[in-house]
Parts: sequence; structure tokens; C-alpha cells
Amino acid sequence: MNDPFTTAKGGLTGNGLAMTVEREDIDLNRGTEEQEGFVKAVREYFEKVFGTSDDVTFDDVKNKYIIPASRNQYVIGLTTSTMIKLSRYAPYEAMFHEAFHKLMEIVLAPNIREEFYKIYRDHNKGELTDRQVAEGLADMFVDYMTARTLPKDAKWYSKIFKWFRIAGCALGMCWKYGIRNTRKMYTVYQNMNSGYYAKNSKIYEENKKRFVE
Ligand SMILES: [Zn+2]
Repeated sequence: MNDPFTTAKGGLTGNGLAMTVEREDIDLNRGTEEQEGFVKAVREYFEKVFGTSDDVTFDDVKNKYIIPASRNQYVIGLTTSTMIKLSRYAPYEAMFHEAFHKLMEIVLAPNIREEFYKIYRDHNKGELTDRQVAEGLADMFVDYMTARTLPKDAKWYSKIFKWFRIAGCALGMCWKYGIRNTRKMYTVYQNMNSGYYAKNSKIYEENKKRFVE
């Protein structure tokens, strides 16, 4: 079978967006049951957002990570033009990160992506590559999701702090990107989580071409 990870020009990271973490950030103690719980949570989230999780695959049970990237850096999540791959040991944030890549790089219309890329570039210093912008935007969504998400057994007071976290996240974004841009981003986030794109989107073939170098 044609494997986009290995056959594409530019190699694995050249062809996809790889999420790399340090060894300490991989939950090495995650047992079989917890791994299954993670797989289930990822599938449910992708089905809610995109209407399918058929393009999501998980690395072999024996592997803690997908591939070593460098010394003490390991790839635990990967988005390519055709699929998303996750380690079963990946932190939960990884699913939000990869889901956002899929949305921004594959599902949203090219002109909308360009708009978000421009907002990001206008408010972050330096000459940023497309890859850096894509990673920055995905991490912003992770911040948003982690501010909103609480474990099921959270104490009452953490619910109060959750409100502050959500407000803080929104304020931080407004401070940096302005109210108008923050509202635009939040609209995408909310559409994503409400399943809007699962019903109102198509895959743009021209988006896929950006992945091949
Ligand atoms: Zn990424």
C-alpha cells in the first residue's frame, strides 16, 4: 500500500505536520484500558467535529511513540493530507491539536485559511514558515480546549477556576489579536465543537497539495 508517511518526497516530517514531545510528556504508564479510553475519546471527538474518524489511525500497541524525532524528542501525533496518526500514549491535548490541523489545513476553504494565517503572522514576530503558523494556530486551539475542559471528578472550586481560565484565555487572545480576530477564531472553535463542519464542509483537494514539498 502506498504509505504517505514514507513514500512522499521530503520524508515523514516534510510531508506532514508532526507533533513532537519530550519523553517525560509521554504517559508511559497508560495501561491497556486507559489506552482504549483514549482511542475512544479521539474517535468520538473526530466524529463529532468531522462526521468521521475513519482517517484516524493509532500506532501499534507496542510502540509508545510513532517515531523518534531527535534526542529526547518523539513524534506522538501526525497530520498528513490523507490521515491523522496518534500514539496511544499521546496526551489528550494531541487530539485537539491534530483535529485543528485537519480543520485548518484540509477542511476550511483556502481563502479562510489564508485569513487566519495572516492574522497569526500579523501578531507574531519573525518570518514564520507556513509550518510554524500551522503549529501556532493548532496550539492556540489546544489552549482554548484545555481552558474549557475539566476532568469528570473535578472539585466544585475548580469549576470556578474554570470560568477564570476560560475568561483568561479569551482575554489573552483579545490582548494579542484584538477583539475582532478573537471573535473570528472563537467562531471557528465553536463551529468545530458544535459539529457544524461535520455537516457543512468538504475536503478541498487543492489544500492537500500543500502537504507535498
Ligand atoms: Zn502540529
